[in-house]
Amino acid sequence: MKLIDGKHVASEIEHRLKKTIGTFTRPPGLAFVIVGDNPASHTYVRMKKKKCQDVGIASFDKVFPQDAAEKEVLAHIERLCNDPHVDGILVQLPLPKHLSTQKILSAIDPRKDVDGLHPCNFGKLLLGETDGFIPCTPLGIHTLLTAYKIPIEGRHVVIVGRSNIVGKPLAALLMQKRKDANATVTVAHSATRHLKELTKTADILVAAMGHPLSITADMIKPKSVIIDVGINRVGNRMVGDVDYEAVAPLTSAITPVPGGVGPMTIAMLLSNVVRSYELRSR
Ligand code: NAP
Repeated sequence: MKLIDGKHVASEIEHRLKKTIGTFTRPPGLAFVIVGDNPASHTYVRMKKKKCQDVGIASFDKVFPQDAAEKEVLAHIERLCNDPHVDGILVQLPLPKHLSTQKILSAIDPRKDVDGLHPCNFGKLLLGETDGFIPCTPLGIHTLLTAYKIPIEGRHVVIVGRSNIVGKPLAALLMQKRKDANATVTVAHSATRHLKELTKTADILVAAMGHPLSITADMIKPKSVIIDVGINRVGNRMVGDVDYEAVAPLTSAITPVPGGVGPMTIAMLLSNVVRSYELRSR
C-alpha cells in the first residue's frame, strides 16, 4: 500500500508558486467574502489566508453579518470585480439560507472565479474547454493522481457524493476525452441502491459524502486506489469518510485524513489565483 501524501505534493506546488510570484510586478490578490459567523468558515478562511501569506499572495477579507442583505453582498462583489488588485474572489460557503448562493456566485467575474463555481466555468469544465477555472478539490484530486502516476484512462472511477463542489465537477473532469482523464465514471448519492456492489467495482474510489468512516473494508475492490475527501470531526479527532485502518492494507494507494486531499484543495486555490494573475496581466 502506498500513502498518497497530499501535504508533500501541496508543499512542492506552493514552493513553485512562491518562486513564480517572486517574478511578478505586484502580489496577486485574493479577496474572501464571508457572511455570518459559522466557525468552520472562519477557520477555513484563516487557513487559506495563512497559505496566501506564505507564498506571497495578498489577501483581503470582508465579513458580513449573518443577516446581511443580498444586495449589499452583490454590491461588494461588483466592487471586487472592478478592483485591479484583486485577481481572485472566493465566497466562503455555505451562505446563510436567506441568500441565493447561485445568484451570488454568478455575480463573480468568471475571470476572477478562482473557486470555479461560476456557471460559465462549470460549463467550460463540462464541455472540456480548458481556459476556465476548475473547482479546487477536484483539481487537487486530479493533480494528486497525476503526481503519483496513477492511471485514470479506461479505469472505473466511482465517486460517492454529487455535490457541486466535489462530486459533479470531479465526474466532469475525469470523464473528459483526454489522455490524463478518459475514465468511466459512476456517481453515487443518497438514493443509490446497492452502494456496496458498485463501490466494489471501482478501480479508483472517491469518498465525498461527509459521513465519518462509512466506507468499510467490505466495500472496496482489493488493490484499488482510495481517495478520501471527507473531513469529519469525531470527538477531538479529524477523520475521513473511509475507515482508514481497515481499508488501507487492502488498497494499492490511499489518501490519509488529514494530509491527503485537504492540503491539495488549498494549493489549487493558490494556483488558480496565480493563473488568474497571469491571464489577466497578458
Ligand atoms: P455535501 O454537499 O453534503 O454532499 C454530500 C454528498 O454525499 C451528496 O451528494 C449526498 O447525496 C451524498 N451522500 C450522503 N450520504 C450518502 C450515502 N449514505 N450514500 C451515498 N451518498 C451519500 O458534501 P460536500 O460539500 O461534497 O463534502 C463532502 C465531504 O467532503 C465533507 O466531509 C466535507 O467536509 C468534505 N470536503 C473536503 C474538502 C477537502 O478539501 N478535503 C473539500 C470539500 C469538502 P444527495 O445528493 O442525494 O444528498
